[in-house]
Amino acid sequence: MPPPRVRFAPSPTGYLHVGGARTALFNWLYARHTGGTFVLRIEDTDRERSTDAHTKVILDGLGWLGIQWDEGPFFQGAYGPRHKADAERLVEGSAAYRCFCTREELDAQRREAERAGLTFRYDRRCQSLPPEEVERRRAAGVPSTIRFLVGDEEIAWDDAVHGRISFQGRDLDDFVILRSDDTAIYNLAVVSDDIAMAITHVIRGDDHISNTPKQIALYRALGHEIPVFAHVPMILGPDGKKLSKRHGATAVGDYQDQGILAPAMRNFLALLGWSPGGDREILAEEEMIALFTLEGIQKKAAVFDATKLEWMNGEYLSARPADELLPAVTRRLEQMGVDWGGRDLRPLIESVKTRSRTILHVAERVAVRLEPSRSTLDEKGEALIRKMGPAFATNLERAADALEPLRNGEWTAEQLLASLKDAAESHGLKLGDAMQPIRVALTGSTVSEPVNELLEVVGPDRSLARMREVAERVRGAGSAR
Ligand code: GLU
Repeated sequence: MPPPRVRFAPSPTGYLHVGGARTALFNWLYARHTGGTFVLRIEDTDRERSTDAHTKVILDGLGWLGIQWDEGPFFQGAYGPRHKADAERLVEGSAAYRCFCTREELDAQRREAERAGLTFRYDRRCQSLPPEEVERRRAAGVPSTIRFLVGDEEIAWDDAVHGRISFQGRDLDDFVILRSDDTAIYNLAVVSDDIAMAITHVIRGDDHISNTPKQIALYRALGHEIPVFAHVPMILGPDGKKLSKRHGATAVGDYQDQGILAPAMRNFLALLGWSPGGDREILAEEEMIALFTLEGIQKKAAVFDATKLEWMNGEYLSARPADELLPAVTRRLEQMGVDWGGRDLRPLIESVKTRSRTILHVAERVAVRLEPSRSTLDEKGEALIRKMGPAFATNLERAADALEPLRNGEWTAEQLLASLKDAAESHGLKLGDAMQPIRVALTGSTVSEPVNELLEVVGPDRSLARMREVAERVRGAGSAR
């Protein structure tokens, strides 16, 4: 068996949807797993809705995700002459016929069927036109389409995901394959291109299942072996409805903008409808490639869980060296108008990346450590202030007093911890009661890196000023806002 040839065939009529990206990823993983070839074909035949800008967004999105194609991008619009020739070949072999019915005539036939309570099916009136009549009308310039003559027999295939699927030929209408302006309808264009590009496996969304019998009929009529079809499950929102903008971002580019890392996004997308077996979720690229099979694709719809994506991104963030995150974080800080005065941000990134969910979150937390006044008090911080009462401000001031002597030169995590322990002990406080108010004063929250590390990165001047300021404010107002 020659190695497989697969393709991703997006229509450039919109942004790169997460569903499209997932289809591209499955094709790419399959090609890499099998040593096959991944072809990219842009299906730009809908001239009104296809734009170069959309094509660029799709190519950029694939590039960002690290999905490299081996051949292409090919543009379907360039293959019009082949599509037309294939349609004409089918007419010559009597597998298709010229139809001269106008839109008005077809609408009238449709209305009639509806009145009679029947499903409209083209009644093949043009199929029985004598060849001389067809020629006469063509010579006279009467517009015509080409319709495919669908046989009555069953059309079935063994779908690599869903198993056996079958349709009755008699339930399919004689569908149009070539418009009167000689452009191909989707089903013909796809089959003509897949044959020309020697595609062996068609891996695509299961919204295309209803097109497949028509495409199989075309393959047969054109004298070609049918490829393997693998229809991958739909992606649903958490409410069980088809994923849409109502559920939040659906464009891959939005996740890039939200500070999701490309390898995390790719890992997350891979698990939408595919399981490597077991309960492993974090998979490096090589592992995904090694484990990917069509058998591992699930039949049931996948659910897009944005919380899980953030969790996964957090896992990737903490595993990345600060160096690698630096460019994206500084870009974000610039957008936020934060001035870091040439300071090396890597230690700050290093200390916040573990508890962060996205690059934006990392940048926000770095910004707060550069300028503690940017912090906002969260629920947990507020609850702590309420719970501790006056002790919150007192402990904060005591801690500031204890740390004051370290201002010159000894402001290190180690020394800070030692001084805080001493202070807690001499005032008879639990270490936590001495430390939590510092955390809340500097970050607005009770969750952060260890307090001594936090103090070290914020630095003596900003830490001490902020601690005293918050203590004063809480004492005055009963709140740190
Ligand atoms: N252009 C089609 C789409 O975007 C591709 C269908 C296919 O993969 O066959 O849905």
